[in-house]
Amino acid sequence: MTLTKEQLAHLARTTRCPRCDHSKTVGMGLCRSCRNKLPANMRALLERIPEKEPWTVGQALRQAANYFNVHFQSVRKFGGGKKR
Ligand SMILES: [Zn+2]
Repeated sequence: MTLTKEQLAHLARTTRCPRCDHSKTVGMGLCRSCRNKLPANMRALLERIPEKEPWTVGQALRQAANYFNVHFQSVRKFGGGKKR
């Protein structure tokens, strides 16, 4: 995923989390609850995104998506997932 400057600005402006549709703070890449599930170094890349380079944020979003996939897959494997 590569973000253009426009996509980054749009993502920063919107108040919906792109991942879970919870409300998020303007300027953040993901909502608080999604960010809280990420390791601190990944979380920092998705905060105050208008100050960041679009490609950095795009990469951070992709990393976050991978992290969520792996995390929720392993939760499902152990039978604890609440997804659907
Ligand atoms: Zn979220």
